[in-house]
Parts: sequence; structure tokens; C-alpha cells
Amino acid sequence: MTARAAELRDRGFDVITLSQGEPDFETPTAVRDAAIRAIHDGKTKYTPVAGIKPLREAIQKSLSRDHELAYGLDQITVGCGAKQVIFNALFASLDAGDEVVIPTPCWVSYPDMVALAGGKPVLIACDECHGFKLRAEALEAAITPRTKWLMLNSPCNPTGAVYSRSELQALAAVLRRHAHVHVLSDDIYEKLTYDVDFATMAAVAPDLYDRTLTVNGVSKADAMTGWRVGYGAGPLPLIKAMNLIQGQTSSHTSSISQYAAIEALSGGRKHIDEFASAFLQRRDLVVAKLDQAEGLSCRVPDGAFYVFPSCAGVIGKRTPNRKVIETDTDFAMYLLDAFAVAVVPGSGFMASPYIRISYASSLADLTRACDRIIAACATLS
Ligand code: PLP
Repeated sequence: MTARAAELRDRGFDVITLSQGEPDFETPTAVRDAAIRAIHDGKTKYTPVAGIKPLREAIQKSLSRDHELAYGLDQITVGCGAKQVIFNALFASLDAGDEVVIPTPCWVSYPDMVALAGGKPVLIACDECHGFKLRAEALEAAITPRTKWLMLNSPCNPTGAVYSRSELQALAAVLRRHAHVHVLSDDIYEKLTYDVDFATMAAVAPDLYDRTLTVNGVSKADAMTGWRVGYGAGPLPLIKAMNLIQGQTSSHTSSISQYAAIEALSGGRKHIDEFASAFLQRRDLVVAKLDQAEGLSCRVPDGAFYVFPSCAGVIGKRTPNRKVIETDTDFAMYLLDAFAVAVVPGSGFMASPYIRISYASSLADLTRACDRIIAACATLS
């Protein structure tokens, strides 16, 4: 989709891209300034593999401040984005054939990362009627003696679903019966929730603290995707093993980015409120607009910056040149080729027929794009 969108743009089409997984905001000025200071202060050498101490202290403080979670500095590791932290954890812990339970729709990278680390992704489809969230019975049924991890992502990419405390407690009750299963809680969209409270497993179920890895970072809430700073906090043996792997791969993320991340985590957090309120306004606009698109139906997501409408109502319809829309990929291609709007088909997130629309774009672009989607749907018969 991205390649096709770029090709159309090169040919002069006014393509509106709603497929991006990153905020359109600039990194806050104070954070950029901290990075410039780090360069001038000569903070340009190798750092410890787990990350510089003041950054791990800032992470330690933020986990304590926001969730009353206590971690020693040696229980915290910093990597090149949450992505590397998750990969390190899987690579450090999976033996060939170990199973990882992944509720779907899920972020595209999870199943591939598990497979790359020699494990077996066990996908559990979570229905829209249950808010796209994993239910206790489904988790219970998926666990086998080979299950090593449950991967949870709240707020979720692509659905924006946010697990409540009680929903996490219900999952924790299942996990208590299966002491060999660990939880990877990917909280990267934590700060982007709208009118609901965020909760994370290690805080909700303190008795699972010893088998929970909490993953987070500055990419999304601090508009720092390119800086590549993510972190994990968890049991010491796991963190040590993750550091061993990182020590033989990337060593660590950029020293300059680490200094910038200290500012992001411990400086003024006003930018997060500003980003979140802009996202909320955009979400409401997109959901209201998509309501007018025939064949689409869109729940109101509680977090992240994506909507994940069902396009079941357009499947089986024909375009004006008589092509049948058979899949969500066909629909996404039609939106791109005929209306110059780039979205991501749900199949990429192991869920069909859906499309993911990122609302990390200006209100003006979102309005134009949604009008095109409404017009596209109206051409189908
Ligand atoms: N986890 C989820 C659910 C994501 O959507 C993403 C990025 O899209 C990541 C992790 C990776 O974050 P980072 O950029 O910090 O590696």
C-alpha cells in the first residue's frame, strides 16, 4: 500500500495517507533542546547496554509515579524502540516451538517476531462485539503446556481498544492457574486514552509482577518515533538475558536519544495533554464522518490514534467498472487507486474485513479523506 501510494504521488496524484503509525506532531522543543545539549556536552560515546543510569532512573520514577510499580534500576532495560525491547524479550525467552498467545486484531509485527525467535504464534480472534478484547474463556482455552507468553496491547493497534482494570483482573485470574505463562504488556499507547482509565497488568495483579514484562517508550505519546527509545521493566533474570542479546546486536540506542528521552519522561508533560486532546477531536470527526459512509460501520475507539471500521457492508459490491470487492485489501486498493486515500487493510492485522485508518493527520486532511471515502462507498453497487 505504501509503495503504491508513493508511486501515485510521484505520478502527481494528491494522495492522502491515513496509513501512518506515528503522530504528525513535532517532537516537543524541550526534548529537541535536550538532545542538542547532549551533543554539545559530548554525550556521544557508547553507553551501558541497558541504557544510561539517569534515563533508567527517569523510567523508574515514571512507573512509580503513574502506576505505583517499583523496579530496581537493574530491572529496567532501554532499547531501540519498544519494538527492539519486545524482540529481545522473545528472543531471550523462546525455545523452538514455544507458544505465544496473541489476541487479534494485533500489531503486524507480533506474529512475525515470535516466528523469527523460533516460537509459534497462537492467534486468538477477538470479536468486535466484545470490543476486540480477549476474554478469559478464550485465554483459558488457548493455554497449553508450551505456552510461554500472553501478549497484551492496550490501547491496541489497530483497534484502539483499552482493557479496563476488571477485564485485566479476569485475565489475571486465568493466568494464576497457569504459573508457566508470562505476560508481555505492550503499553506504548498508554498516554493516549480518551475518557477511560488506563490500566496495566503488573499494577492490577501485583502477584503476577514476577512474570510480567511491561513495555513502553516515548515513540507515540512524545512524538519521538524516529529517536528510537523504548524500554522494558520486568523480572531480573529476563532483563539480564535481554541485555545479553542487545549487547551482541545493537549494543544500545543512540546516546543522544537517551538524553532526549530523559527530558520527555521527566520534563513538563503538557505536550501529552495537547496531543491527546487534538487526537480526541480528530477521532470524533473521523467516526462521525465514517458514519455517513455506506457499507462501513465504525465503533468509537477508546485509545491510540486509529479507527478500525468494519467494511463487511462493501464486500461483494461492484465498482463502477464492474470489479467485485472481495476482500478488505480490494477495498483498500480501490480507495487508493480511485480516490487517492491510503488506509491499511485489516488482513495485515489478522482481522478481516476491516480497514485501519490512522487519524494522526490534520483535521483538514482527515475531512478531505473521509469525504473521499464516503464518495467511494457511494459508487459501489
Ligand atoms: N507496539 C505497538 C503496538 C506499536 O503499534 C508499535 C509501533 O507502531 C510499537 C510497539 C513499536 O514502537 P517503537 O516505535 O517504540 O518501536
